[in-house]
Amino acid sequence: MGRSEDLFERAVKRIPGGVNSPVRAYGAIGMAPRFIERADGCYIYDVDGNKYIDYIDSWGPMILGHNFPAVRESVLKACENGLSFGCATEIEVEMAEFICEHIPHVEMVRMVNSGTEAVMSAIRAARGFTGKDKIIKFAGCYHGHSDALLVSAGSGVMTSGVPDSAGVPKGCTQDTMTAVYNDLDSVRALLEEAPDQVAAVIVEAVGANMGVVPPKKGFLEGLRTLCDQYGTLLIFDEVITGFRLAFGGAAEYFGVKPDMVTYGKIIGAGMPVGAYGGRKEIMQMVSPAGPVYQAGTLSGNPIAMAAGLTQLKYLYEHQEVYKDLEAKGQKLYGSMEEILKETGSPYQVNHVSSLGSIFFATEEVRDYTSAKASDTKKFAEYFLHMLKNGIHLAPSQFEAMFLSTAHSDAVIEETLDKVRGFFTK
Ligand code: PMP
Repeated sequence: MGRSEDLFERAVKRIPGGVNSPVRAYGAIGMAPRFIERADGCYIYDVDGNKYIDYIDSWGPMILGHNFPAVRESVLKACENGLSFGCATEIEVEMAEFICEHIPHVEMVRMVNSGTEAVMSAIRAARGFTGKDKIIKFAGCYHGHSDALLVSAGSGVMTSGVPDSAGVPKGCTQDTMTAVYNDLDSVRALLEEAPDQVAAVIVEAVGANMGVVPPKKGFLEGLRTLCDQYGTLLIFDEVITGFRLAFGGAAEYFGVKPDMVTYGKIIGAGMPVGAYGGRKEIMQMVSPAGPVYQAGTLSGNPIAMAAGLTQLKYLYEHQEVYKDLEAKGQKLYGSMEEILKETGSPYQVNHVSSLGSIFFATEEVRDYTSAKASDTKKFAEYFLHMLKNGIHLAPSQFEAMFLSTAHSDAVIEETLDKVRGFFTK
């Protein structure tokens, strides 16, 4: 038994399932998760002395690779002044100004501590602003673990096969309506069913929690039109896509303007951060400016702000990063598709820029139902093959691969060799 196995044995006795977030468990794979010691660039190292090329990237924030020197140094420097004050600081103002000056659809922003909090708070603000209660989400989209949003959710909820969570009272989800991703008619039908009652439509502009599912041409534009037609706010959950697809996230990438946006870990460069923002008149509803209560002792934490602002400034000043990520995505995922073709493997690859997934499904994956048709046993075999060959993937068919600027062409080639190895064995 290795150290990871030892640690897991200890962990399951004291931490539910042995992990502090379900997506870390190797439940679908049937082994102990790797316990990680450190990470640098595109590499991650476990406590057993193994080195892997990492495609989890802390689930997104490590756009510039792990342990990026400027980010690390900003954190160390900020620590010299103390870890938390629970009071207003200059860097929070700088962060808010920086985001609002460079993201056209964000006129005001509020920092929180996670993506879950960001979405939960954005929904509350949307309800407060519109005076309406219902929301529409999409099956397979994950928006964190707040009660109202654990309905047909993706990510870990999908992997464990639990459609909805125990412990969520019916009352909490009675105003959550679920539409089909990439299907505007399903949204229109719900809006018709509850005229003048829908506060917001929330969507992952690129589905990234049922594996990667790109929006079909016209889907996001269609949502914008429907929301305008029915007096409903459009919220883009950019916890995964924000500052990754483009500096302005999916909204910029696809040229569709949401009313509100939610961000997560990327804003903290890996520190525990989230944020929500949007039109000023909506954000002015939030306490203490307005009647929608939302608060947080550690919100805008100075260490997290230092890390996040350093990464955001770097990304803004080096926008060539986005062309680079697009090219790397094309190389990795495009070549994976070629390998499938060459080897006569009837599976699917979906990708948008640096985000991608291979689905062990035989039909095009365009929504939750087609994603769920994947052969998860085959995925587990693939995952194990890749892990044994030094490639660290998310241990689930329904998560994305995350490329960073630290993944060199040589590293991508090495990864492709291992992918080829699986499909030719
Ligand atoms: N929204 C999306 C789109 C996500 O992918 C996630 C988690 N990856 C969340 C919300 C929740 O974020 P957190 O885990 O930081 O609460």
